[in-house]
Amino acid sequence: MRRKTKKIKVGNVFIGGNAPISVQSMVKADTRNVELTVKQIKELEKEGCEIIRVAVPDMEAAKKLGKIKKRINIPLVADIHFSAQLALEAIDQGVDKLRINPGNIKKEKIKEVVLKAKKHKVPIRIGINMGSLEKDILFKYGATEKAMVVSAMRHIKILEKYNFNQIIISLKSSDIKRTINAYRLLAKRVDYPLHIGITEAGTKFRGTIISSVGLGILLEEGIGDTLRVSLSDQSKEEVKVGWEILKSLNLRKKGVSITSCPTCGRTEIDLFKLVKQVEEIAKPIKKDLHIAVMGCVVNGPGEAREADLAIVGGKKNGLIIKKGKIIKMVPEKKLLVEFKRELKKM
Ligand code: SF4
Repeated sequence: MRRKTKKIKVGNVFIGGNAPISVQSMVKADTRNVELTVKQIKELEKEGCEIIRVAVPDMEAAKKLGKIKKRINIPLVADIHFSAQLALEAIDQGVDKLRINPGNIKKEKIKEVVLKAKKHKVPIRIGINMGSLEKDILFKYGATEKAMVVSAMRHIKILEKYNFNQIIISLKSSDIKRTINAYRLLAKRVDYPLHIGITEAGTKFRGTIISSVGLGILLEEGIGDTLRVSLSDQSKEEVKVGWEILKSLNLRKKGVSITSCPTCGRTEIDLFKLVKQVEEIAKPIKKDLHIAVMGCVVNGPGEAREADLAIVGGKKNGLIIKKGKIIKMVPEKKLLVEFKRELKKM
């Protein structure tokens, strides 16, 4: 059961409520370089990124946001740290969401930011990060999940004081258990949508595993309304992993899912090569399809029964199985051509 939350509009995407769990990422280029930033965002749009965030380190970057926004199709989020001026400028530039922690901004200035965000219907994500918790909270609670939740509640209260409720919250640390527990605790206390992620998860290999374990547990408990996978790699890899996590839990559908066997002593076709070729063929397909590539007739047909289209290897030949029915037996070298022909029909 998905946790019930408020539904927040971020540009042309909804977060929370009954909206699909969205996949987001962050641009790695310098925001002041509009061409490069737009190029990266366009690439991410193609990969299925649904919300994009950019860093706003100074006024020059803030003033480029409008130009970037005009050239992209997905909601643009401005990541601001301590400057009210940058937040105000980002709103003027037409961004769709701010990521800002209100407690980090001077009291007299935050009111202006919140009221302006409210007037322009710009939601705010409070992004709690274990690495940047307030000193007094760290002193009292240590680097714990409780500390993250106390910090989040402090920032939430500031926004609520100005009757602002278009709030999304994230609680990120690089420790999976602490992150999961923090989200569990906060999920019981507020009904705002949650942006989930494991921060500084590492390189593509480690980060994919850590994010899949952490986000998988949360999502299975119904926690999480939008996600970002953080990798020390290209942003498009983050988007791909995010989608695979959602697809693996049947929370979203997008294009082809490929099941393939690990191979063993029974395998009689070059399965590794074949599955890579199938993956390439399937890349541009937008339709939701389940494809299976199996190495032998022992377990192959059973698995293939669940797939829309499957290849099952035999002795230097293979079967093409469509919706559970064997439709062809072909020699190994013709397997891919025949498979492609059937895939095209679908
Ligand atoms: S499907 Fe066949 S070849 Fe593949 S791992 Fe299972 S038994 Fe081995």
